[in-house]
Amino acid sequence: MGLLDKIKKKAMDLSQPSQPSEKERAVPQTAARGRVMVIGLDCAPPRHIFNEYADDIPNLTKLRENGLWGPLESITPPITVPAWMCMMTSKDPGTLGIYGFRNRKDHTYDGLSFATSWAVKERTVWDILSDAGKDSIVMSVPPSYPPKPLRGIQIGCFLTPNDNAEYTYPKEIKAELKENVGEYIFDVRNFRTDNTQYILDESYRMTEQKFKAADYLLSHKPWDFFMVVEMGPDRLNHGIWSYIDPQHPRHKPNNPYQESLRDYYRFLDGKIGELLRHADDDTTVLVVSDHGAKAMVGGVCFNEWLRSEGYLSFTGEIPEGLTPVDKLDIDWSKTTAWGDGGYYGRLFLNVEGREPDGIVPANRYEQTRDELIRKIESMVDHDGNPMENRALKPEEIYQQNNGVAPDLIVIFGELKWRSVGSLGHGSIYTFENDTGPDEANHAEQGIFIMNNAPGQETGPKEGLHLWDVHSTILDLFGLEPAPGALGTSVLKK
Ligand SMILES: [Zn+2]
Repeated sequence: MGLLDKIKKKAMDLSQPSQPSEKERAVPQTAARGRVMVIGLDCAPPRHIFNEYADDIPNLTKLRENGLWGPLESITPPITVPAWMCMMTSKDPGTLGIYGFRNRKDHTYDGLSFATSWAVKERTVWDILSDAGKDSIVMSVPPSYPPKPLRGIQIGCFLTPNDNAEYTYPKEIKAELKENVGEYIFDVRNFRTDNTQYILDESYRMTEQKFKAADYLLSHKPWDFFMVVEMGPDRLNHGIWSYIDPQHPRHKPNNPYQESLRDYYRFLDGKIGELLRHADDDTTVLVVSDHGAKAMVGGVCFNEWLRSEGYLSFTGEIPEGLTPVDKLDIDWSKTTAWGDGGYYGRLFLNVEGREPDGIVPANRYEQTRDELIRKIESMVDHDGNPMENRALKPEEIYQQNNGVAPDLIVIFGELKWRSVGSLGHGSIYTFENDTGPDEANHAEQGIFIMNNAPGQETGPKEGLHLWDVHSTILDLFGLEPAPGALGTSVLKK
């Protein structure tokens, strides 16, 4: 370096207002930008956030109007587990090997096991940020029980069994939160109830405590990345949709709960406003949901249908009343296929050499599947109208099929119908849900709002997909997405 250069450098050094702090010095060169805050609203649909309730939620509306926003295409099928992890890993359900929050462990008939955080093998946003020396606070992003180690803090999701569980990483955070915030509420307990006021009261209580905990952690712990998922909108959509949606078949005009969801969003928006006090000029804020919601017409009794079509047989009589399929004696020697209930239908074939008492010869597997697809897709509803069902082969919609995939993924009536697994309905259609009252199903699109990203465009945007979120967050930190990421940074779209 020549003398002139040295003088110039000295002058430049002096012109710096202050030396970087210890923390800034530790930040890698690639990460020139500030922090990222992600507010996840489970099941929040575009129509409520962007349209119907926009005037009641000033904080969200301001974020949106000054930011980039649009519908966020969910995964197929759009269900909470694995949708949030698809968003955080930029992988599809088949690659994750998580097809719902219950999955077959193997090809035996032993039923389904619950997905835990350990089922997620792909790298999440916070795994990558931890390696880059960034601190994360990750609150209740499903499935996050048991909480896994990271650089920062993680708190269990709605699948956390109860308050006695070790639901924080590091462990000590649990006691610290209890002391400073009080109870951490993972979910509305027993949310499948007719007691509408109870669902409302508990959702408010859960949201209040969740945001209190968020405020505490954001105030007292270091963070570069913060994310919280609030389940309130999901529990309320499922619990009160018929009250709020005039299109719902059971809607009663002028009912006492007509505006209850609007009121809840007003409350939630206030909480979001308080949280945003932690977002400074260098913080990018994202608001996202994992899927939307729509009115549910009823349920297709999937196993009743399979039985009526001769694919499923039982030894002995079906008892009076509703019985879950796994409590009945299936005659495997006469069973080709059985199904499972949920927001979508899972169909399993009883394949020779694969299932213990399989009867479908391997060389007739495709033929049997195709026959079932044709029949499922030509089903009619209770009024004789085509249901517009779709039966999908997992290998045609996912990049990989890890774990034990269903043989068919069935979406009844464009998700206006759910799948019912139990027997004893006396019909293929039901308007009562066997697992308790439920008025909404999930819809294909959630929401995306991004505010204050350096150099971002603003205004409405189409064509956003849930797995773009992973790539966008990492891009905001100047980091590469995980190898094989399916999404693209929204900043580059
Ligand atoms: Zn969800």
